[in-house]
Amino acid sequence: MEKVNIVVIGAGVVGLAIAEELSKTIEDVVVLEKERSFGRHTSSRNSEVIHSGIYYPKDSLKAIMCVEGAKSLYEYADTYCIPYNRCGKLIVANNDEEYKELDKLLEIGKNNGVEDLEIISQAEIKEIEPLVKASKALYVPCTGIINTHQLMETMEEKIEENGGFVIYDSEVLEIIKVNDGYEVVSSDGETYLTKYLINSAGLGSDKIAEMVGIDTKKYNLKLHLCKGEYYKDNSIKNIKHLIYPVPDPQGIFLGIHLTINLNSEVRFGPNAYYLQDVDYKTDDSFKPEFTQAIKRYIDIDPENLHFDDCGIRPKLQGPNDGFRDFYIQEESEKGFPNFINLIGIESPGLTSCLAIAKYVGKMFNR
Ligand SMILES: Cc1cc2nc3c(=O)[nH]c(=O)nc-3n(C[C@H](O)[C@H](O)[C@H](O)COP(=O)(O)OP(=O)(O)OC[C@H]3O[C@@H](n4cnc5c(N)ncnc54)[C@H](O)[C@@H]3O)c2cc1C
Repeated sequence: MEKVNIVVIGAGVVGLAIAEELSKTIEDVVVLEKERSFGRHTSSRNSEVIHSGIYYPKDSLKAIMCVEGAKSLYEYADTYCIPYNRCGKLIVANNDEEYKELDKLLEIGKNNGVEDLEIISQAEIKEIEPLVKASKALYVPCTGIINTHQLMETMEEKIEENGGFVIYDSEVLEIIKVNDGYEVVSSDGETYLTKYLINSAGLGSDKIAEMVGIDTKKYNLKLHLCKGEYYKDNSIKNIKHLIYPVPDPQGIFLGIHLTINLNSEVRFGPNAYYLQDVDYKTDDSFKPEFTQAIKRYIDIDPENLHFDDCGIRPKLQGPNDGFRDFYIQEESEKGFPNFINLIGIESPGLTSCLAIAKYVGKMFNR
């Protein structure tokens, strides 16, 4: 049996950020990851957007972590030369109802501490994005995009420089609570005795909580998987900003939006629908839904729209639920001291990763 101080389960962007933060001051930090390399699930199947924090209720973890996390992420990217583009975004509106939603978002954003938000006119939109059809927009200058692969690669390097380890092909199969911590049984045949255990297993995080002994039904911590697909259109050129519709206030996502990547290629999505199991297979059946949604703010030829990729959101919010926040909790109260649970780390989880890591770091009584 291998004795360590901390086991982090999951080498997505959040698990890596936590391990990097903790390995700065604590020896023997080990990340166990079931896949062959980092970020094979949600962390590499997303929009790569550094969000601003305008969508989430004031004082929610999502709002706080997003605003703090975005600042930290830009600084981190500057420090380690990770490519990013602080391109800004437009949330576009075309009727009175949507204008009201823009005003609400402006208010929420200001309350959450998002800086330099501005409602702009049709003429101003035309000047900066001639292809976009909208009569008003909320301009969010601090939104950006980042190379998530390079971000995670850097985090992995830093963990190793700090003396920590990231161990791949190591699926956590069993967890046993013992007197001085947790025994964590891995699929590679190794068992780790750890003082602290951190569950950052993304889509598998509710299962890890159950393995420890937490009744996820009782505590309303069962995940709902919610898939999102992307389509690309290589014929659209010269878009400089991310373009979002006004989100449906009752909806479960931000609306099918336009993002650019660091090569200025255009992609649309993700849409959102619930599913039972992690399944990345797709077909073209959502193309009409995409075409209709996109045409509201930019003209496209559906012939040029091609399926690109998909991801799955680990949501605590079920189909008929309202807003659910990130769940980040040290579980002494449930009878599991030094076990830290992160469940429901959906968007803005990428943006928030460094702020989440700091927040988890503060939970340690060293
Ligand atoms: C479609 C989509 C678009 C998004 N867009 C954005 C965006 O633009 N901006 C933003 O901020 N956020 C976005 N997000 C959210 C963001 O991608 C996630 O919040 C973030 O990647 C979560 O990271 P994670 O490390 O928690 O999870 P993951 O990346 O899923 O990592 C969890 C890891 O745990 C491993 N694991 C699971 N079970 C076990 C086990 N038993 N043993 C060992 N390892 C295990 C998995 O293999 C996985 O590698 C988006 C999400 C989706 C789905």
